[in-house]
Amino acid sequence: MRALNSLLAATETTIFTVMSALATTHGAINLGQGFPDTDGPADVIAAAAAALMDQRNQYPPLAGVPELRDAVAAANRRFYGLDIDPMREVVVTSGATEAITACLMAVLDPGDEVVLIEPLYDTYLPVVRLLGAVPRLVRLAPPDWALPRGELAAAFGPRTKAILLNSPMNPTGKVFSADELGFIAGLLQKYDAYAICDEVYEHLVFDGYRHIPLMTLPGMRERVMRIGSAGKTFSLTGWKVGYVTACAAIAEIVAKAHQNLTFTTPPNLQRAVALGLAKDDAYFVSLGADLAARRDRLAAGLTGLGMRVLATHGSYFLIADVSTLGFPGDDVAFCRHITQHAGVAAIPVSAFYAGTPPRNYVRFAFCKRPEVLDAALSRLAAHFVAGSARAALTAAK
Ligand code: PMP
Ligand code: GLN
Repeated sequence: MRALNSLLAATETTIFTVMSALATTHGAINLGQGFPDTDGPADVIAAAAAALMDQRNQYPPLAGVPELRDAVAAANRRFYGLDIDPMREVVVTSGATEAITACLMAVLDPGDEVVLIEPLYDTYLPVVRLLGAVPRLVRLAPPDWALPRGELAAAFGPRTKAILLNSPMNPTGKVFSADELGFIAGLLQKYDAYAICDEVYEHLVFDGYRHIPLMTLPGMRERVMRIGSAGKTFSLTGWKVGYVTACAAIAEIVAKAHQNLTFTTPPNLQRAVALGLAKDDAYFVSLGADLAARRDRLAAGLTGLGMRVLATHGSYFLIADVSTLGFPGDDVAFCRHITQHAGVAAIPVSAFYAGTPPRNYVRFAFCKRPEVLDAALSRLAAHFVAGSARAALTAAK
């Protein structure tokens, strides 16, 4: 048989699926793939259920139902002071995953360069390559993941068409500062480039950090595609409702990409998300406050076990340096080991790198009930603390 698409054939199954399957096999508590273990707001779910029953189950408009486009525009105004035309500047997609692909399709021609920042979310690189574009990778370094400005500037050139930026960032929990965003904006203007901004964790920020959309900076309104996800904002990751905000000229082309990917997104979910986006400010503020408490709980526990936990200011995730534990393998081996033998799953951070990655970092998701985080910590303690005590006793005999 003739070979199938070589890029897809060479793409591995996503680490999130691999680790979730391993967690299921071993009955492990899943702190790997990022999804909350409780449902989102009951009124939003009830609205989705009710919306199935009122005869609007045929194809919705290509760019999204008017209710949701209005709600996305209103949220842009409420949270960021952006003035968005709901009918010309919003495109609803089937999750942020589709939105990212649609935006890359809208911007890139084969041979165009696109700047990507490592560690990076796992769909970015395969899609850039499938489109025949050329990735230019710039790496952030732990523990603070500061933007290396010289390296970023060096990655831009006459062939640069776009940057793909994720803030708040998965897996680092970095929230890009106004200063860093200003530097990026300067490069975009200098090189006449676009930005695709993956802002799915826009409301999941802690410690008084504030998410600043690049789109709000001077000169960026016409260059930026801003992507949000109802999955993250309403703790309903299975719903796959995303939204792109962009100026009309860009949104029109993003809609053409969406037309060829999925064409539309389930109307009942769109209408329920519209209701969710109209919730009062207290709902959105509670998201970060609630997650910060869970982060602190998990971070304290992992630190107590001897791991070096890095600061995280947004997203569902924290990264721990596990080299302090003396485990004799890399991060992949460590994650497999704790899934199988301690009953707790996590994600090796090396999966977020294209080049030679660091091998000592592990990502844990803390978007879980407190008692589940405690149970995971007890299992790890039983494995590492009791285990090493046993090993010490055996050695002493
Ligand atoms: N971008 C990032 C950085 C993510 O972590 C995720 C996670 N799920 C997505 C995009 C995809 O969002 P969605 O589920 O809405 O497709
Ligand atoms: N974004 C989620 C994570 O980082 C996973 C989504 C997926 O499994 N594709 O864990």
